[in-house]
Amino acid sequence: MGKQDKQGKHGERGKRELPPVPEPLPVPVVDAHTHLDACGAADAADVSAMLDRAASAGIAGVVTVADDMAAARWVVEASTWDSRAFAAVALHPTRTAKFTDDDRAELERLVAHPRVVAVGETGLDYYWTRFDPDVAPPAAQQEAFRWHIELSKRVGKPLMIHDRDAHQDILSILEHEGPPETVVFHCFSGDAEMARRCMEAGYIVSFAGPVTFRNAGPLREAAKLVPNDRLLVETDAPFLTPHPFRGRPNEPYCAAYTLRDLAELRGEPAAELAAAVADTAERTFQLRSVAPLG
Ligand SMILES: [Zn+2]
Ligand SMILES: [Zn+2]
Repeated sequence: MGKQDKQGKHGERGKRELPPVPEPLPVPVVDAHTHLDACGAADAADVSAMLDRAASAGIAGVVTVADDMAAARWVVEASTWDSRAFAAVALHPTRTAKFTDDDRAELERLVAHPRVVAVGETGLDYYWTRFDPDVAPPAAQQEAFRWHIELSKRVGKPLMIHDRDAHQDILSILEHEGPPETVVFHCFSGDAEMARRCMEAGYIVSFAGPVTFRNAGPLREAAKLVPNDRLLVETDAPFLTPHPFRGRPNEPYCAAYTLRDLAELRGEPAAELAAAVADTAERTFQLRSVAPLG
């Protein structure tokens, strides 16, 4: 996303406008996976403006996630600018064609920062490998995924998984390596069977905008059967804007739309689901034990 799109005002026919900020949720929750840098935030003022907007919709904090080494440095710094920002660091699976010893050493150093609450996003992406020759092939991705699993166990921080068209290999590798104590499937994209397998294994699943898409039948079925103490909500902003704003830019405040839609889908009061999601985020990322700023 280019700088000129920062406020989404330069596209055709208003399509690039940010959606309206909704009424605040009855209980504040955390956006469990977002990319503040890709949303257009560069400095502390940008981050705070975005988090103020989020707070006005009942999104009390965010985990901002790195997908390359430059982003890993940035998210750790950003997490020190505002007490509502927490960080996750890893090398995204699509970028692991070249994953040097220096990169690994730097990630080990960054992940130890007290405001880094997860190792992610890591995992497997078999979608982009089919179209883009620059994307790491499956073998390189698998090797990097194993390394991140080991890192997560070693530092005792949750593993945040990116899984695109790779459900079976992700589950097998986790089982073979022995999963860390806490595993989160970000932007969960499986069906009911995959959700059952994740529940049996003790994993947490995090739902992004696609769970609100009216044509996402199998994913919506999966979302109905996950107990409310095993799920999170996220935006994965600036992508995957929830219904009814699909195609527009996304920001952390839009997690409020996803939570309300999910509550309706599950036939559960939004306040009840939000309270459960808030607890699960706290338990998963141990947010209250993160040292305050200053
Ligand atoms: Zn991802
Ligand atoms: Zn992401």
